[in-house]
Amino acid sequence: MRAITVSPGIADSARLEDVPEPPRSDGAVLVRSLALGVCGTDREILSGAYGSAPPGERRLVLGHESLGEVEEAPHDCDVRPGDLVVGIVRRPDPVPCLACAVGEWDMCRNGRYTERGIKERHGYGAERFRIEPDFAVKIDPALGILGVLLEPASILAKAWDHTERIGQRARAWQPKCLLVTGAGPIGLLAALMGAQRGLDVHVFDRNQGGPKEALVRGLGGTYHTDAATLARLAPDIVMECTGSPALVRECLGATAAAGIVCLTGVSEPGKVVDVDIGRVNRMMVLDNDTVFGVVNANRRHYEMGADALARADRDWLGRLITRRVPLARWREALEHRRGDIKVIVDFAE
Ligand SMILES: [Zn+2]
Repeated sequence: MRAITVSPGIADSARLEDVPEPPRSDGAVLVRSLALGVCGTDREILSGAYGSAPPGERRLVLGHESLGEVEEAPHDCDVRPGDLVVGIVRRPDPVPCLACAVGEWDMCRNGRYTERGIKERHGYGAERFRIEPDFAVKIDPALGILGVLLEPASILAKAWDHTERIGQRARAWQPKCLLVTGAGPIGLLAALMGAQRGLDVHVFDRNQGGPKEALVRGLGGTYHTDAATLARLAPDIVMECTGSPALVRECLGATAAAGIVCLTGVSEPGKVVDVDIGRVNRMMVLDNDTVFGVVNANRRHYEMGADALARADRDWLGRLITRRVPLARWREALEHRRGDIKVIVDFAE
């Protein structure tokens, strides 16, 4: 079967090649791939900056945003042949730490977790993959290929889950206004889930006009390109989805009292910006503000994400996928093109 593989640590080493069928040891469920989403993490692995192959191997099958159809499954599990499923990315560490021991591998304490297509486990960028039944998440068949959005949606489901848990530290917490920074796939999914919660949704992005603005309006939200307007907004919740140091600085202390700033973007170290930390600290203390970070997702978040996608407008979700590239031309999926939101490799084409 064909798979997109890479030698982690070596730039531009990726290729489409024939690899053996997935081993039984990967799991009892055999899945035929339908689509694979690509993101910044894949580009980082291709650049040689990130990722690691399974122990004893030189190459890694790339891909962590999966969608496939079950071909084979044991009788005693929740998935059946024909079901559409998405594979969970992370596996608990072998110790396991206290978090992994209770199925919260997204909160792993020792960093010894593994991740499909990223860290020490082959990914989903192959024509077929195998997976353990507990790590396959069923999606609403009506979603079809839109199910490929579940992995990124799971991250935002976690962001919302944690935001609401923090909010509920005060019994009267009732957020009304949400600000999302960045209108990429992560920001737009954050905005979707905010709209599903009935919040007044504001999204900030540098791109004027175009599909991103239309998508935000499609949620009933307000699209901003002028950072100065954000200072007057005083949102109850900020979801920072760019990782841009300058924008992160603007988000600190920008909320209404008891505000929550959720950081989801991974930034490069070394970018130094001036911060009046005395002002930020003063505001955070006097307003009972919270700033926190989230990454990855556990099974519960995948299920929450699947539910959010199932309730979303299909046409709106479809407009998030701006390019579909056949497997034979997979390289094009990893190129940055103007107007891209989510780009997928389509295994059916
Ligand atoms: Zn752990």
